[in-house]
Amino acid sequence: MTIQLIRVGIIGCGNIGADHIDRVAHQISGARVTALFDVATERVQELAAQVGAAAMATASEVITSPDVDAIIIASPGQFHAALTIECIAAGKPVLCEKPLAPSVEECEAVLAAEQAAGRRLVQVGFMRRNDVGYRHMKANLNAGHIGDALILHCEHRNPDVPDSFTSEMSMTDSVVHEIDTSRWLLDEEIVRVRVIAGKQSPLAAKHLNDPQLVIMETQSGVIISVEVFVNARYGYDVRCEIVGSNGVTSLGAQDLGQFVSNTQRNVTMPANWRVRFSDAYRAEIQDWINGIQAGEPRGASAFDGLAATVVANAAVQAVKTGETVEIPVLEKPAFYA
Ligand code: NAP
Repeated sequence: MTIQLIRVGIIGCGNIGADHIDRVAHQISGARVTALFDVATERVQELAAQVGAAAMATASEVITSPDVDAIIIASPGQFHAALTIECIAAGKPVLCEKPLAPSVEECEAVLAAEQAAGRRLVQVGFMRRNDVGYRHMKANLNAGHIGDALILHCEHRNPDVPDSFTSEMSMTDSVVHEIDTSRWLLDEEIVRVRVIAGKQSPLAAKHLNDPQLVIMETQSGVIISVEVFVNARYGYDVRCEIVGSNGVTSLGAQDLGQFVSNTQRNVTMPANWRVRFSDAYRAEIQDWINGIQAGEPRGASAFDGLAATVVANAAVQAVKTGETVEIPVLEKPAFYA
């Protein structure tokens, strides 16, 4: 059997788009980059020349090109839903970076389009599902090694953020990853969220609540705590631990190496998310390509994208009001079972 080489078009070639170009071109098998689009025309031409792809004049040209079998969307979030729906209309698989869309209504429009098309075409870029540490945690929980999950502790620390970063973005850009991993690890929905801003870091911008503590609860009553601290300065540090009725499972060490000298042990840690999750991104893209070749994507679905947006938006409301926000449980269409 000959396995089809997947020709990938990429829309949005900034931070993560440029990384994905390199991954598809050089780090995975079974695919190549054939077309790119970004509003930054000079950069996109440079990137296209590096990988032998065509720089297109519009996103639609990428989507409808006969030289493109599948699309990665890595433009800013407000463009995701419309572009994803265009990919569905063209009958092409699409990996849409998170968020699927900033609003619930736009996410719902994507789900409606995909269901009308009659087959799964959409995957959302929640790459932590491909991280070896998180996969071990899920396997340990599913194997019954720690009994019933009772509490999930998460920490999400970035060294710093640009001045434009807001308290709400801590929810939609950062905690959204914990929202997805919590749903995926525990296999249940989040029904309640509260956000506490206590003593603030003197190193954070005045308009930003930092750190914040997010407390969520699932349908069965599992409590999820997420410390989000985007001015932690010392490095990029993501931690996760499930406390079970009969044990604990957690992410292993994420050190990049160490040296010992003069009675001190010095450990190098990731400087940012790119370094920490580079293997997970690579595995995500490889798995996406493998899924397309096998007939269907198998990562986070459009429904997972919708659920993450619902909870992230509730967390934003919790930031604004200081109240506990109740989250209606979404009915999962049989299409996404
Ligand atoms: P970025 O560096 O700003 O890149 C976005 C690129 O898209 C920029 O080159 C931007 O050009 C371009 N662009 C703007 N409008 C466009 C349009 N209408 N059509 C096509 N391209 C357009 O942002 P980023 O950090 O790469 O983030 C992109 C997306 O990926 C966001 O949704 C973000 O949440 C997501 N992301 C996900 C992860 C993850 O862990 N899964 C990590 C990082 C980012 P200009 O700069 O000229 O506007």
